[in-house]
Amino acid sequence: MRALTPNGSAKGAVVAMPKRTKFANTRSGFDYLIVGAGFAGSVLAERLATELDKRVLLIDRRPHIAGNAYDHYNDAGLLIHRYGPHIFHTNSTQVVNYLSRFTKWRPYEHKVLAHVDEQLVPIPINLTTLEKLYGLKLTPEDAEAFLKSKAEPVAEIRTSEDVVINSVGRELYEKFFRGYTRKQWGLDPSELDKSVTSRVPTRTNTDDRYFGDSFQSMPLHGYTRMFENMLDHPNIKVMLNTDFEEVRNEVQYDKLIYSGPIDEYFDFRFGKLPYRSLQFRHETVDQENFQPVAVVNYPSEDVAYTRITEYKHLTGQVNPRTSLTYEYPAADGDPYYPVPRPENAELYRKYQALADATPDVTFVGRLGTYRYYNMDQVVGQALALFKRIEETEKAESGLVRAARGMARMNGTVHAEAAQGVGD
Ligand SMILES: Cc1cc2nc3c(=O)[nH]c(=O)nc-3n(C[C@H](O)[C@H](O)[C@H](O)COP(=O)(O)OP(=O)(O)OC[C@H]3O[C@@H](n4cnc5c(N)ncnc54)[C@H](O)[C@@H]3O)c2cc1C
Repeated sequence: MRALTPNGSAKGAVVAMPKRTKFANTRSGFDYLIVGAGFAGSVLAERLATELDKRVLLIDRRPHIAGNAYDHYNDAGLLIHRYGPHIFHTNSTQVVNYLSRFTKWRPYEHKVLAHVDEQLVPIPINLTTLEKLYGLKLTPEDAEAFLKSKAEPVAEIRTSEDVVINSVGRELYEKFFRGYTRKQWGLDPSELDKSVTSRVPTRTNTDDRYFGDSFQSMPLHGYTRMFENMLDHPNIKVMLNTDFEEVRNEVQYDKLIYSGPIDEYFDFRFGKLPYRSLQFRHETVDQENFQPVAVVNYPSEDVAYTRITEYKHLTGQVNPRTSLTYEYPAADGDPYYPVPRPENAELYRKYQALADATPDVTFVGRLGTYRYYNMDQVVGQALALFKRIEETEKAESGLVRAARGMARMNGTVHAEAAQGVGD
């Protein structure tokens, strides 16, 4: 990789930018231009360079690599995540094996508490949550019966509200989900696709882990370090602070992989795909610990932020001070969350049809495919895409070899005919 300082920021201009010519297949430019140095773009850059010996130019409009997973050491020496807490969890051994080439791991099981009725209780709702909220002593069977008595069966589950009311009833829905979802999405749960709250389970035991995945760990030295290792290849050039628009007609490349917003690529031809954004307030306080777990949720609509993260729980760092991030949902700003509603899926399908009809450009990642993917899913998507590219590249080079072979044979035949030795 070229052009990065140890924390992933730009050192300056690094690559000459030959003008794009119609001789796109010459070896003087890049085989691939990849837009976006997040998981999608970086995994593909690494695979193409390492496995297929392709020359890759990877650009990002931000001043750093690692996309939304970017982390860095702040002035207090604490490792923080610029775009909110990123917790790695997956059931895919393929994804773990791949990423483990670039990082060691620190085992970490994510725990979240919710500030409800003036106390901190586990979320997802579990046996302890019910005991604390209702002052009860429960067995798992009691907890199951209790939730059943609260649940209000919904005949046809369509929205996020239906999912929760059907499983835990209106009272718990209002305490934990309604306000949080309204703040997070700017929409009532009754207006949101069921997929949003389906992600949060309910438990009748004391398991207080936020995720149930088989692999839960954080990159030992952070995400940015992992990305630096991934991109450390002589065939990969990285340009930061560089928007696709600035270079699209300046750089010579054969193929384009685009992990930016798909609607932006097509100049918002059918209108904007809606995203929810966030404002982050990063703060370091003069106390060793701030809260008992990494993340505390604030579901009440009386509080403007949705959650507070304390990073020491993720990293295990020891420091007399501690760093926090407050998250404030926003309508405008960087595109973070595709809004899962049927009309948005419909709009995306129109862009997807355009993408399908655009040869030599491949759309990938959360923004390129307008999907609410976690990091491991984006890595999985990029690895699967690489397999397809590899097959196509091999088929293409097989064809080129066959054509060259044919040309050589023809040349021999012509030469022999010219010498009069043919039959
Ligand atoms: C607040 C928050 C918390 C999250 N927490 C978790 C979590 O705990 N666990 C988890 O698994 N996932 C989490 N995610 C999801 C995770 O961030 C994504 O799955 C992952 O970042 C997607 O990678 P990507 O490469 O598709 O996109 P991104 O990381 O968004 O990278 C895309 C990059 O493309 C660049 N770009 C876009 N357009 C252009 C352009 N025109 N020119 C140049 N560059 C461009 C952008 O600057 C960006 O850096 C979270 C997401 C958010 C927003």
